[in-house]
Amino acid sequence: MKELEKFAKEKKEYRKKVKKPRIWREKDLLDGKVVNAFVLILRTKGCYWAKKSGCLMCGYYKETYDAEYEDIKRQIDMAYKEYKNEEIVKIFTSGSFLDEQEIPKDLQLYLFKKFKAKKFIIESRPEFIDNLENFKDYRIEVAMGLESANDVVLEYCINKGFKFNDWKKGAEKVISFGKELKVYLLIKPPFLTEKQAIMDALYSVEKIKDLANTISFNPVSIHSKTVVEMMWRKKLYRPPWLWTVIDILKKTKEIYNGVIKCDVVAGGKERGSHNCGKCDKKVLNAIKEFSLTQDEKKLEKVDCECKEEWLDILEIERFLKG
Ligand code: SF4
Ligand SMILES: [Zn+2]
Repeated sequence: MKELEKFAKEKKEYRKKVKKPRIWREKDLLDGKVVNAFVLILRTKGCYWAKKSGCLMCGYYKETYDAEYEDIKRQIDMAYKEYKNEEIVKIFTSGSFLDEQEIPKDLQLYLFKKFKAKKFIIESRPEFIDNLENFKDYRIEVAMGLESANDVVLEYCINKGFKFNDWKKGAEKVISFGKELKVYLLIKPPFLTEKQAIMDALYSVEKIKDLANTISFNPVSIHSKTVVEMMWRKKLYRPPWLWTVIDILKKTKEIYNGVIKCDVVAGGKERGSHNCGKCDKKVLNAIKEFSLTQDEKKLEKVDCECKEEWLDILEIERFLKG
């Protein structure tokens, strides 16, 4: 096992054992209209890659347990009682929905049959995309984390466990199955400066813009018990400035025709993407509004004196890092 893979594994502590599904409702876009979405986080065995080693920023492994067939069925039934015919149903597992080690195949189908949604959104690593062939009758959007299209960043800054071309083959299969593709890109993987983070995100957009129906940006947030948390505690990592996020969203809008989204986890906090503290709320609101309306003017209307500081950092960070 490579050193970085080994190190990422050693940072983990499996302590929490959460057995109940998490459920909430939110607004989302469906064919250009804002509709209601039902979000369901199923507790499963979790991501196989997280167990083997895992991505440096990912702490989702803490929300998993060795759920067996009956446990998962019980969670689905429990969630269904709360379902109010929302048009979109999003099912997340802190891993890959299509991995049969996490959710047996007949339970995957059981779920699609039970919820009468117009569209389902699931997440999967590229390794499991072939299993989509079982779900021809359903409108499904597959969200596949790519994080970065740069193989060096994937290997040394994220420890993603696949290369861009492996991911691309999976993405092409999603399309050949007639399903929609959402791509997660990470904003500011560790070891990148603020300026490199912008370049990395835009390079990645260029590489996937003809494949993705939706690009969803995830600015890094600090999950506990991760390598990134360790770096953050030692002041070796700062989550991206919100200005960096805004800059990436604006520039992506210029070169990409699909839907652009951005969910800022822990926005405005030390552990999430933040600015000076004074402007964070309004900048976060602008990002939220942009994600729902796709109107880039929402991103134009925000400003603050800390933008100058951010611009200085873009220029001088590479010298500071030596
Ligand atoms: S980010 Fe995704 S692929 Fe990476 S360890 Fe977490 S769940 Fe697995
Ligand atoms: Zn500010």
